[in-house]
Amino acid sequence: MKVIDILNQAKKPLFTFELIPPLKGGNAEVLLDTVRSLSLFEPAYINVTNHQAEVVYVERPDGLLERRTVRKRPGTIALSGLIQHTFNIPVVAHLICGGMRSEEIEDALLELNFLGINNVLALRGDPPHGQKRFVPIKGGHEYSSDMVTQIASLNRGIYLDESLVNGEKTNFCIGVAGYPEKHAEAANRISDIEHLKHKVACGAQYIVTQMFFDNSVFYRFVQECRQSGITVPIIPGIKPIGSKRDLATIPQTFHVDFPPELVELLEKTKKLSEVKEVGVYWCKKQAKDLIEHGVPGVHFYTLGKAEAVSQVVRDVY
Ligand code: FAD
Repeated sequence: MKVIDILNQAKKPLFTFELIPPLKGGNAEVLLDTVRSLSLFEPAYINVTNHQAEVVYVERPDGLLERRTVRKRPGTIALSGLIQHTFNIPVVAHLICGGMRSEEIEDALLELNFLGINNVLALRGDPPHGQKRFVPIKGGHEYSSDMVTQIASLNRGIYLDESLVNGEKTNFCIGVAGYPEKHAEAANRISDIEHLKHKVACGAQYIVTQMFFDNSVFYRFVQECRQSGITVPIIPGIKPIGSKRDLATIPQTFHVDFPPELVELLEKTKKLSEVKEVGVYWCKKQAKDLIEHGVPGVHFYTLGKAEAVSQVVRDVY
């Protein structure tokens, strides 16, 4: 079932969550265990993230550095199929422009289509480690809106190979990312929202947000989106804090702010168990407030840790 239909038919706010493929060498069972434990709460759909290859330098015995390209978390498409067919829960596969030529994106879409997966989140991806600016590879897309256009074309039976006529039309529901605190590279919130509006004009049917820890920034974002003419559903994304390290790494990685009250609570903690309690407390508070404000659903970033999300969802839904 397509996410947009699930949203339109929902009688109550949806519970959805995101999973990260295991590191290369890991096994799918860990991921399936996470789904097993969270499936008790009847998720409406599950997202599976996608990670581009990174360049790493390995020192050779002669002391010279060898450049290698390593995909540390492969398997988004296979895992999406495995989860959807094992649990009979719709999966949203993330697709990224980074490191992919448009032909490879088309192949990935066709594989998803063959697997019966018709939900994708179209993303640009971050610049690879050690690179400041995102640069598309030759034949790749610069912005996620270009990928949205490609998927929307495939939905009309238009393939990249112009000689291919009467190609099967795909039936993808396309989601895109939104940033309540603006995307790190955007000049300001207004231009970021204009770019978001463009993604919707290209064919995106709903928006999922970057994580945030202060609901007021989400409400302001929704209001600004509506004022700019964006009418599609906007689903808030939140995450329970799991360690004191998150205080430094989350703002650095995701370019989001922590509200002073949350920082104060976390700074008072002495043990990891106390940090986790604060994380669950805050996430519950956010989720309850979002639901009271009438959001279509709450999307949880599990980052591989299902226990805290279970604790939140058990109390909130
Ligand atoms: P875009 O929509 O392409 O926007 C990127 C920047 O360009 C923004 O600053 C925007 O304002 C600007 N821009 C957009 N269009 C234009 C235009 N036409 N002209 C000029 N400027 C423009 N990353 C992964 O690698 N894998 C994942 O699975 C993944 N999942 C995510 C899920 C969610 C819900 C979110 C919020 C993010 C996720 N990310 C993921 C991170 C995402 O890839 C990065 O945030 C990335 O830097 C931007 O992706 P985007 O799709 O928002 O990019």
